[in-house]
Amino acid sequence: MSELLRVQNLKKHFPIYKGAIFPKQTGAVQAVDGISITVNQGETLGLVGESGCGKSTAGRTILKLLEPTDGKIFYKGQDITDVKGEELRKLRKEMQLIFQDPYASLNPRKTIEQTVTEPMKIFGMSKEKRQQKLDKLLEVVGLDSYHKSRYPHEFSGGQRQRIGIARALALDPELIICDEPVSALDVSIQAQVINLMEDLQKEFNLTYIFIAHDLSVVHHISDRVAVMYLGEIVEIGDVEELYGNPKHPYTKALLSSIPEARPLEKRERITLEGDLPSPSNPPQGCKFHTRCPWAEDICKQKKPVLKQVPGAEHQVACHLVKEVVEDTEATLV
Ligand code: SF4
Ligand code: MG
Repeated sequence: MSELLRVQNLKKHFPIYKGAIFPKQTGAVQAVDGISITVNQGETLGLVGESGCGKSTAGRTILKLLEPTDGKIFYKGQDITDVKGEELRKLRKEMQLIFQDPYASLNPRKTIEQTVTEPMKIFGMSKEKRQQKLDKLLEVVGLDSYHKSRYPHEFSGGQRQRIGIARALALDPELIICDEPVSALDVSIQAQVINLMEDLQKEFNLTYIFIAHDLSVVHHISDRVAVMYLGEIVEIGDVEELYGNPKHPYTKALLSSIPEARPLEKRERITLEGDLPSPSNPPQGCKFHTRCPWAEDICKQKKPVLKQVPGAEHQVACHLVKEVVEDTEATLV
């Protein structure tokens, strides 16, 4: 598989200003704080973590809907970190976003036809082509073409997400960042939309970054998974390897809340203490140390970096991996 996207040490910090007349920057929300990922053509990379960990900001920064504070983004080998104007407009065709909330993301005053064909119009597609494309897209997302003159409020949540997907596909993108695409839907509908997304991926050779906090959904759809905590990736790897053999205490805690995702004999319960610290004032060293049952002095002083797990498609950022793994394995007996 060839590399489609590479992100190097990407940061997105939002400055905080204080003072009404002469506002001064007093700090920054470190929403994304140095993430590095590679995504290959045709694969799905799951991005998981609690809400507020920076997943959505990471997605929007990769798509250049937000300006990165630092780091690099490469798309098909080309550095796109600073592209602007016409070049950025062309890139937009290839990279799309599917939103979490199919209720809020569709304009209530526009018909389905207007909504789905709008991007095609912007890129100068003829009326005839737009009509053909619209009919095809509605068909592939499982909507009847008599729906096209209707408005979003006439549809259910699942149907609206299908409309959002049709719109995202309007310009034949290669990369789609899916930001919690099913979390606003009923569980019974979630599976249908996920199955649709998998079918579309095969049909159009799409590459997905799939952002979610629901680990079962991510397990189902992803080839690889990255776990985010306070703006950083703490563990990344092949989906079965990471779910079957998690090494980072945070990943272990997340996974132990969905026992069905892992074999019974490997289940160990780790409960997370406390709340997610503020991303404007994150803990020094390992950002997880305030909640980690294994934390020692070194964790407060030194930031752990991602290290390869020998013999596996798997990396983890924790000073005490060996101890954590030995401990949790000991409690399994
Ligand atoms: Fe816990 Fe220390 Fe590992 Fe961080 S580095 S996850 S605090 S053991
Ligand atoms: Mg989010």
